[in-house]
Amino acid sequence: MIKCNANRLQKLVELFSEYGKTENNGVTRLSLSAEDIAARKKFQELCEELEMTVVYDDMGNMYATLPGKQNLPPIVVGSHLDSVIKGGRFDGVLGVLTALETVYSIKDANIELDYPITIVNFTNEEGARFEPSLMSSGVLSGKFEKTKMLASTDKNGITFAEALSESGFEGPVTNRIQEATAYIELHIEQGPVLERKNLEIGVVEGVLGMVCYEISVFGESNHAGTTPISMRKDPMFTVANMIADMQQQLQRLDSELVYTIGRINAYPNIHTVIPSQVTFTLEARHQDPGVIAEVTTMVENLPVLQNDCSIKSTRLWDRDTVHFDEEVVGAVEYSCKELGYKEHRMFSGAGHDAQFIASFIPSAMIFVPSVNGYSHREDELTSYEDCAKGANVLLNAVLKLCRERVKK
Ligand SMILES: [Zn+2]
Repeated sequence: MIKCNANRLQKLVELFSEYGKTENNGVTRLSLSAEDIAARKKFQELCEELEMTVVYDDMGNMYATLPGKQNLPPIVVGSHLDSVIKGGRFDGVLGVLTALETVYSIKDANIELDYPITIVNFTNEEGARFEPSLMSSGVLSGKFEKTKMLASTDKNGITFAEALSESGFEGPVTNRIQEATAYIELHIEQGPVLERKNLEIGVVEGVLGMVCYEISVFGESNHAGTTPISMRKDPMFTVANMIADMQQQLQRLDSELVYTIGRINAYPNIHTVIPSQVTFTLEARHQDPGVIAEVTTMVENLPVLQNDCSIKSTRLWDRDTVHFDEEVVGAVEYSCKELGYKEHRMFSGAGHDAQFIASFIPSAMIFVPSVNGYSHREDELTSYEDCAKGANVLLNAVLKLCRERVKK
């Protein structure tokens, strides 16, 4: 067991916080923006100083490889350098920087691994500039169509293809990561569980499945003063009752189920007019597809007519639960135990590149605590002590995988 250099890791986080720094100590580093390009160049420079070879693929994903003693499929570590608008200093970038610190530490300890180590920086994970999120890992895994992704535009009408070609980070398709021994992504938890339970590390077993519906209720628009209550078709009060009913049903399903009504719109949304239509979204996440199926049944059994208002539901999207690779998850867990950290196994409620990469590379994730559970905000915080613990877990999980694999 070896440990990383906590001080060096802190300096790395501080250094990368400068790229796209905002007034309130956050970062805005949209994918392939000038700030992102500067961070990419710095990342490449640091990797090359470590005698790593840096290449890019056709989606602008960066791969920095430290050769191994043998010509084996690499162990891949990393995450993403892009951020949302007014995001924090840890989301994504911490996975890349702890990967970098892992390589520094291996070199410091004069360890020569049998396996090559590749640090990856996935392009446009956030989808904050070009929709959708997880764009490049989605293309690598065949979940997203590349031509559609290249045509995605930002709010100024610039396509992803244009931004990529101008960035200087476009490479050949042959550079894509294909065969690899394992992929480990360290990330901030972006939720309150580790902190509340006083734990140091989350050993991530997978990503929760989810389903999202849009539900529209249609009534009749009319004057708010002249239409007697008994003569109305008011979709707003119908929706209020529906939501209350749904909450009761969802609560009964499973205590681990998380559900959200995140968007609600009234039309025409004027205070003197009875709305003609109210539309809202319901999304629910759970690791058990059986529980998600019960949510589906609940929505699909909604009446078509309630209080004279008609109801229509549309499934917007869904995702199956992703289970990470037991050997790689086990290496992360072993590493926590070896280091004496308080850990627990958990699922990620948020999406990450690892959920797509897991379809062709045995994968796992490491979560470090988020102060107050905050993320995608400028005051997002993970203590440097916790960052270093995460890096130690990553480093030793990589070493463990190398040892075990060579034995086989
Ligand atoms: Zn992220």
